[in-house]
Amino acid sequence: MAPRFASNAPMQQTQRTRRAARRAFTHRRSWLVALPVVVLALLSLQSLLSGLWLTSSDSATTETLPRTALVLTAHPDDEVMFFAPTILALVGAGVHVFALCLSTGNADGLGSVRHRELVQAYNALGVPEDRVGWLDDRKLQDGMRTVWDPTHVAGRVQRYLDSLGLQIDALITFDSMGVSSHANHIACHQASLLLRDQGTFDAVYALHSPRLATKYLSLPSSLLGTLLSLPLSQRAVAAHVQPPIDKAILPQTIRALSSPSQYRQSLEAMRRHASQLVWFRYVYIVLSQLMYGNLLVLL
Ligand SMILES: [Zn+2]
Repeated sequence: MAPRFASNAPMQQTQRTRRAARRAFTHRRSWLVALPVVVLALLSLQSLLSGLWLTSSDSATTETLPRTALVLTAHPDDEVMFFAPTILALVGAGVHVFALCLSTGNADGLGSVRHRELVQAYNALGVPEDRVGWLDDRKLQDGMRTVWDPTHVAGRVQRYLDSLGLQIDALITFDSMGVSSHANHIACHQASLLLRDQGTFDAVYALHSPRLATKYLSLPSSLLGTLLSLPLSQRAVAAHVQPPIDKAILPQTIRALSSPSQYRQSLEAMRRHASQLVWFRYVYIVLSQLMYGNLLVLL
């Protein structure tokens, strides 16, 4: 007769394996339950906080949105990849948004395709074609190493404004980091300082470039930034019910957070840039916090 322990060993081994499998299954099942709950909670918070949040350096003042704003970008697709939450929120609040893109994005010889895509993308963001301008200037060609003269850029912006025949309240463009440190983005910022100094606009706002550590933390990063700013912020009211602009001040910062449906609108706008949809852009539109929210700082 075989020893008792010898015949029980395989059975104990089987029981241990079954217990481990049951634990692994339970663990997986709890994740499967928790994940939709977390996603639902994030989307609910996003819906609740979506819109425009304004801050001022003086708590006794009333902040107001500009009635009109010009979004100044360097290349077709900048408006979706970096400024979509701002554009959607301003359009939603009744601000008349105008756009000027300083190049056709002709780095790969696709300029004629890309400026058409630019107009279509702005359309998807709610900006009509007659408010979208672009330049094809030999001094402002797309390129990481192409240096744009800020004085020339400021002059071209002024000419565009003259062609519109309108006084635009606010300019919105890149900050000194240009989000990606692209030389053409930084030239937009440098030109905006010149335009501010010559009083072309009532206000000039720079898009805050996120730090690398949080740049690709997607929606949670934008939600956290909005939550942390709430004690010092007030929600913007629609442009058409605000006091006249001379009876209120333009805010020190403007924070825009897209709702889930506005984020889908941004994806639709990105689809219009068909010539740019390479694999890393799909990763970008999911992970970049700038696809969900923007912080604009008064210069
Ligand atoms: Zn760009």
